[in-house]
Amino acid sequence: MRQFNVVVLGAGGVGKSALTGTVSSVRFIRDIFVENYDPTIEEEYRRTVNVDGELSSLEVLDTAGAEQFTTLNEVYIKAGKGFVLVFRQVSSAEVDHLRKQIYRIKGGDAQTIPIVVVGTKLDLVNEREVHRNTIQSLASRWNLPFYETSAKRNWHVSEVFEDLLRQMRSRYPKE
Ligand code: GDP
Ligand code: MG
Repeated sequence: MRQFNVVVLGAGGVGKSALTGTVSSVRFIRDIFVENYDPTIEEEYRRTVNVDGELSSLEVLDTAGAEQFTTLNEVYIKAGKGFVLVFRQVSSAEVDHLRKQIYRIKGGDAQTIPIVVVGTKLDLVNEREVHRNTIQSLASRWNLPFYETSAKRNWHVSEVFEDLLRQMRSRYPKE
């Protein structure tokens, strides 16, 4: 079975841990939404997924830390095969920065790097509209797939990782 490591990046409080916990065995085994993850803890989750009839192992690293760009992130980006860029703020500066850092660190043809852009907390309807339009137009300008999710309601979370897995399979074909 092929194994792919995925790095989840984004500002503090956007919902990285909730998203990662939802796609991982945390939610899988006991269907509960964990309200509060320690914002300073970095955790790696592993899960076997069946996408398009092929089993793959996903290792998902939930990053932490107040700094948007740390030397640690640089290490993770080097090792990562796929990236989930999570954001929520109307300001896109952080995500734009992370995206450029990924391109810089990975080198090569930027268009081939597996990346998915994710908006979170779709269940908070009142805050939704601006959020969606902003992210959607940015993602299309960046030519990256975009998903709106709710970790709380388990909406569209698996689609994010399926999309990323397909990108990783085609970017890193079987030997
Ligand atoms: P992180 O710092 O990016 O890892 O963010 P967390 O995953 O710890 O989430 C920050 C806060 O947002 C927590 O209070 C979560 O319960 C809340 N949160 C995360 N995802 C959702 C969601 O989909 N819906 C709602 N309503 N709250 C969420
Ligand atoms: Mg966290």
